[in-house]
Amino acid sequence: AVEIAAMNKWYGEFHVLRDIDLTVRRGERIVICGPSGSGKSTMIRCINRLEEHQSGKIVVDGIELSNDLKKIEEVRREVGMVFQHFNLFPHLTILENCTLAPIWVRKVPEREARDLAMHFLEKVRIPDQAHKYPGQLSGGQQQRVAIARALCMKPRVMLFDEPTSALDPEMIKEVLDTMIALADEGMTMLCVTHEMGFAQAVADRVIFMDQGQIVEENEPRTFFGAPQSERTRMFLGQIL
Ligand code: ATP
Ligand code: MG
Repeated sequence: AVEIAAMNKWYGEFHVLRDIDLTVRRGERIVICGPSGSGKSTMIRCINRLEEHQSGKIVVDGIELSNDLKKIEEVRREVGMVFQHFNLFPHLTILENCTLAPIWVRKVPEREARDLAMHFLEKVRIPDQAHKYPGQLSGGQQQRVAIARALCMKPRVMLFDEPTSALDPEMIKEVLDTMIALADEGMTMLCVTHEMGFAQAVADRVIFMDQGQIVEENEPRTFFGAPQSERTRMFLGQIL
């Protein structure tokens, strides 16, 4: 579903991503971890072109990302993204947050968009909040709305960038449970997270990044049980 090959990115002079090779098959769940500043966010933001890469290629569901705006739009329609700070529209209700893009981008009839939104709000277990505004919800609830909103676009791939790191501990589980349910349904997922319990439970592969490179990738049992590189061992020693 996602193919990244020999991809490099610079911010000005700063070489932020170095020779990234990563293929994610349909239905695969990838967890990405690594120290602050290692390029995790930049890498997943390149997948829906929130950031531009300078060399190599990124192909999403057969569409290669380039400066072609039509292709960028096509890719963005296939890729849902959930951020650390929910990024909901504060002046729209929960329901409106979920129906806006389907109506305006996917041209879904309003009624159908509302039904779809309620379907996904039920899935994330907050249909009763549909007519409130984001500011009236807890952080965990807002993040579940953000997940429902992304799902309303019927994405084929979901990107998560530290979706639980801004949450109070008691709300982390409800968001992780939602993500686990999504994984169980076969969604293709790339998740930047340091929730290693989640990684062990759902990841097909765990990727460790450092200084703009993929240093190590393995299935969770090997990744956590017998990390290959010294840098991975040090990192795991700090967070586990
Ligand atoms: P964290 O765990 O703190 O979220 P990260 O692994 O997601 O870190 P990135 O946000 O991808 O790291 O940043 C990678 C590097 O690129 C950092 O050194 C950061 O300072 C730099 N960087 C990020 N965004 C920009 C930008 N817009 N312009 C210049 N440098 C940037
Ligand atoms: Mg980041």
